[in-house]
Amino acid sequence: MTGTISLTSTPVPAGVPPFIAGIDLGGTAVNVTILDANGTFLIDGLCEHPARSVEGPAVCLRQIAEALQVAVAQAGVSAEDIVAIGLDTPGPATAAGVLSQRGSTNFVHPDWAGFDIRGELEQSLGLPVHYLNDGNAAAVWGHAAIFGDEPGRSSVSAIIGTGLGGGVIEQGRVIAGSRGFGGELGHVLIPVATLIDSLPDLAGLDPRCNCGRRGDLESLCSLTAIRQTLLPHFLKSQPDHLLATLDPGKAATRVRGLAAEGDELCQAIFRVQARALGLFFDQMINVFDPDALIVGGGAIEAAASFQQWFLDEIRQGFPAQREEQREIPLKIMPNGDTAGARGAAFEARRRIRSQA
Ligand SMILES: [Zn+2]
Repeated sequence: MTGTISLTSTPVPAGVPPFIAGIDLGGTAVNVTILDANGTFLIDGLCEHPARSVEGPAVCLRQIAEALQVAVAQAGVSAEDIVAIGLDTPGPATAAGVLSQRGSTNFVHPDWAGFDIRGELEQSLGLPVHYLNDGNAAAVWGHAAIFGDEPGRSSVSAIIGTGLGGGVIEQGRVIAGSRGFGGELGHVLIPVATLIDSLPDLAGLDPRCNCGRRGDLESLCSLTAIRQTLLPHFLKSQPDHLLATLDPGKAATRVRGLAAEGDELCQAIFRVQARALGLFFDQMINVFDPDALIVGGGAIEAAASFQQWFLDEIRQGFPAQREEQREIPLKIMPNGDTAGARGAAFEARRRIRSQA
């Protein structure tokens, strides 16, 4: 899919159309995109720059400014025509973009504790900055890619990465929550006993999340879950498997590729993740009755045949649905690697328009 989205419902004002930059800041890289007034993204794929966040906020803010210059040049627009920034970062952070006092996996330098990344970026760039957490930003993009500006639509996105993020879009708006923790889907509890009963060889599985919960979605469906729980569990009964000899972190990153090649143990691991997602989406269906369910993240950036297999497994994990809800659309997030930057730009545009 290209970056073009039809936004014909919203007329572009006369005069010089403004551009909005979407900035997706991760621990190691910052990805930037540029959105024009017609709703077209002027950069098709990734436009990445090193984030150097491990060196602290002062260095990282300079990296972001550099990344923006690179993106502006790549998009062929003038920096002066950028009127606003949409920024997303991993959390935990408040809805206003203040990072947690306790730090986080991606922002380990001590100066990041309690850092107001939205406010500081706004000052350093001299432009209004609108903030979302990365899961919410990806959910905004997933929703927009499927529904455009169509009003009244709702969706739930789950993003499978190192952890599990995501977001809930209701009536076209992301539910950020009162403190910025809306859409923390990874820490929603899954009925683990139901999951264990539904598949072979899961007896004794004890999924634990870094948040302290046992049996939440992230503890079953994330790269961390593979490394900490699923791979060790399945290797117990197959100690001769080729992954048994590798460092657990390296072994975990190879599971997806091997699953796509047909390795049975690795497929069994992805089946557990898919079925856990099925049980999770069932809860979302009952709470929100959404128009679509969307899956994104590194875990499913694979061949289309593997993606379809994974979606089919998710659907098999659904408990029985009401007849009206049986065919609920279940989709892979388009342009998954740039979802955060695109969603952040979209959200900035929506907020600007709602203020106008
Ligand atoms: Zn958790």
